[in-house]
Amino acid sequence: MDILPDKSYVWQYIEKNIREIAATGGFGEIRMPTFEVTELFDRGVGDTTDIVQKEMYTFTDKDGRSMSLRPEGTAGVVRSIIENGLCMQAMPLKLYYISNFFRYEKPQAGRSREFFQFGAETFGSESPLADAEMILLASDVFKRLGVKSVVLKINSIGCPNCRGGFRDALKAYFESKKDGLCDTCKGRLNTNPLRILDCKCPECKAIAADAPKTIDHLCEDCKTHFDALKEILTGAGLAFEVDPFIVRGLDYYTGTVFEFVSEIGAQSTVCGGGRYDGLVSSLGGPKLSGVGFGMGITRLIAAMEMDGVIPEDPSAPDIFIASACAEARERAYLLARELRALGIKAEAELCGRSLKAQMKYADKKGALYNIVIGGDELAAGKANLKNMKNGESAQTALDAEEIKALMGR
Ligand code: ATP
Ligand code: MG
Repeated sequence: MDILPDKSYVWQYIEKNIREIAATGGFGEIRMPTFEVTELFDRGVGDTTDIVQKEMYTFTDKDGRSMSLRPEGTAGVVRSIIENGLCMQAMPLKLYYISNFFRYEKPQAGRSREFFQFGAETFGSESPLADAEMILLASDVFKRLGVKSVVLKINSIGCPNCRGGFRDALKAYFESKKDGLCDTCKGRLNTNPLRILDCKCPECKAIAADAPKTIDHLCEDCKTHFDALKEILTGAGLAFEVDPFIVRGLDYYTGTVFEFVSEIGAQSTVCGGGRYDGLVSSLGGPKLSGVGFGMGITRLIAAMEMDGVIPEDPSAPDIFIASACAEARERAYLLARELRALGIKAEAELCGRSLKAQMKYADKKGALYNIVIGGDELAAGKANLKNMKNGESAQTALDAEEIKALMGR
């Protein structure tokens, strides 16, 4: 994925804010390899999921092992904490990452084959406070960036205890509507009927609308947990909707699932996550609960654009030092360097263009001030500092300190 300078400053701004918020909340950054053995994702993400069945970039390495570019972050984080003994450290263990992921999907607005996520995970707490902490972390990022259009939707898909009864009810329901399901979902009936709830086909969606809801099949513990989460979110002043149709596209979730959605287009989920209490042990680690989310950066930017909160490009020069003749070029360039040493964003002419072309360039780059140095200015050691926004100008020595002071910096 190409991220060009006209956008990369927005990415930097987002990343800086995310890192600050994460650190303030006690989350440490984890950096992981770009690819892992395919089996990790088969087991971690689930081999009946769309991601594993259709979307992974899988290749065979020179030793004949099957490897895959990471399609998501949680499986890799879990592999890493098991391998590095972090599961044995003081709990909770709070981690975050900002990384690229790869899925072989049909590219469209909000969906690309390489994409970036801010992800965070908390391990070692079964308390609904940990679920709330993750939801509030994501919400804090939206708040800090000024994104107001996102709506939080939460649901509980239950634990293995309540899942059995629900699965049977769901299977019986879909069995009765089997003829209307797409071919993939017909197959899912026997492998993982829960996945049918997440199918994107309109015909399956219509059938799923009347399917049994996990929320009506929760065991006492799951119900208490979900009620407590709602209470904590309310206490924290965060509005939410309970949406029984949220099931998430990955197999590892248990209990709480959530999404932040915005009207940014067909791909409206900006952030999705939930609890995954069985994942660490299923990947060979100790019994350790977890809860986390992934926030797509391009969809976050789309929400920022919609809400009109994209910041100004900070790389616009404060000042452009133009040269009216060849003799002045080097002096102009060195003056720009002296200004940069004082923290002023200064540019000078590098292409030897006419003064008119230089001014056009300075204007296009959004320079606030300019100075033109020609033969007279070189001889006198003085020039005009011109404010390009209001046209005012003041005389200055060709001296970086004086220019800086005149610019009010
Ligand atoms: P979707 O329903 O949009 O396919 P998903 O359930 O596959 O989402 P997750 O795996 O939970 O998504 O990923 C979390 C977030 O990462 C998504 O909400 C989205 O913002 C982002 N994301 C996922 N896939 C892509 C993609 N192909 N391109 C851009 N962003 C993506
Ligand atoms: Mg997807």
